[in-house]
Amino acid sequence: MNKIIIIGAGIIGMLTARLLVKAGVCVTIIEQGYAGKESSWAGGGIISPLYPWRYSDPVTHLAQWGQTHYPELLEEIRLNSGIDPEYIQSGLLYLDIEDELQQAIEWEKKHDYVFEPVSGEALQSIEPGLDFSSFDADKYVWFTPTIGQVRNPRLVRALREYLLRLGVVIEQQTQAMSFIIQGEQLKGVLTDKGSFYADQVVVAGGAWSARLLEKWLKAPKIAPVKGQMIVFKAEPGVVSRIVLSKGRYVIPRKDGRVVLGSTLEFNDFDKTTTDDVLHELVQEACRIIPALRNYPVEKQWAGLRPGSIDGVPYIGEHPELKNLYLNAGHFRNGVVIGLASCQLLVDQLLGQDAIVEPTPYLLTEERLVNDSKQIDLSSAI
Ligand SMILES: Cc1cc2nc3c(=O)[nH]c(=O)nc-3n(C[C@H](O)[C@H](O)[C@H](O)COP(=O)(O)OP(=O)(O)OC[C@H]3O[C@@H](n4cnc5c(N)ncnc54)[C@H](O)[C@@H]3O)c2cc1C
Repeated sequence: MNKIIIIGAGIIGMLTARLLVKAGVCVTIIEQGYAGKESSWAGGGIISPLYPWRYSDPVTHLAQWGQTHYPELLEEIRLNSGIDPEYIQSGLLYLDIEDELQQAIEWEKKHDYVFEPVSGEALQSIEPGLDFSSFDADKYVWFTPTIGQVRNPRLVRALREYLLRLGVVIEQQTQAMSFIIQGEQLKGVLTDKGSFYADQVVVAGGAWSARLLEKWLKAPKIAPVKGQMIVFKAEPGVVSRIVLSKGRYVIPRKDGRVVLGSTLEFNDFDKTTTDDVLHELVQEACRIIPALRNYPVEKQWAGLRPGSIDGVPYIGEHPELKNLYLNAGHFRNGVVIGLASCQLLVDQLLGQDAIVEPTPYLLTEERLVNDSKQIDLSSAI
């Protein structure tokens, strides 16, 4: 039986493992910490890029494939794990996109999304929690009713449980340090707990992917981008929709909790949270939904996104080492685009027809560098 090692048990590593094990491959995941405890745990779980018209077609193609297939996948995971990832099709409201409206409308038409202007009473019924005193009576906002969201910690816990039931081995607290190479072929992974052998190896190490590769090979342009989030212990009905305004968004969960995110910070692998950001996020949350000032902040946290310059992930075989594959660099959109990126990688590993044209995602010479520290992401999307 073909044996594949995946480095990293985030959403990308685990969704890749699901497809491979279902195709009859023997899969081991090597995880330096605990499964699903990094970026994939920390995120908002919105199944859409924010301001999707700002992204290139390669991101859009993966996102659309994911949006089509998520409801079915989430039901499969729920039934086979006993854990509900709490998918809700809450829709997404954009409050202030006047400057980009034309671009947004053209993009939505080209990609066939429902994107409706709403105002007045219609808006009140869609999201009664907004601050209507700050709106002109004729102010329009834009609504995409089909966008859904999942609760990340539940999704990754459910995925882990499902994979264990499918027979995937997850070696936690085991760090991949380097690769075992014979001639020009990859034979396995050297970890701090010993050697693991396989026919192929997939690096799905999120923000850490370039750090692992750059010691030995040309690396993808991936660097950590911190995002701080907070959650209010609110009640059901305080907010009904995902609402996006000036780069900040609120996400209503099934039990009434409301998540508010998120910062974009460029300071290496540091995951500390700060009081300044806490205050700023609380202010922004109450600006968008005034009733949130009546509820306590239950928790503040940060995660490290696998930042890449244009948000286009690296999917494919490494040009310098046969049998070494990569699926990383999903930046702000690993949940929404991850499902398709994993399918695309598995199509390559198993020699199947690709779900989308694979070229834009490949590890070409121009997409690889010798030192990931040279990357400047400060103008990133
Ligand atoms: C605040 C925030 C909000 C977000 N909101 C959204 C959203 O609403 N929608 C959306 O689509 N996306 C969102 N994202 C982005 C999304 O969460 C990420 O793109 C996605 O989680 C990346 O998944 P991953 O599996 O590549 O990385 P990770 O989840 O970070 O997993 C990588 C794993 O690899 C392990 N690893 C790394 N190196 C090694 C090694 N050498 N040996 C062993 N293990 C290793 C790590 O420990 C980690 O567990 C958000 C992210 C953040 C931080």
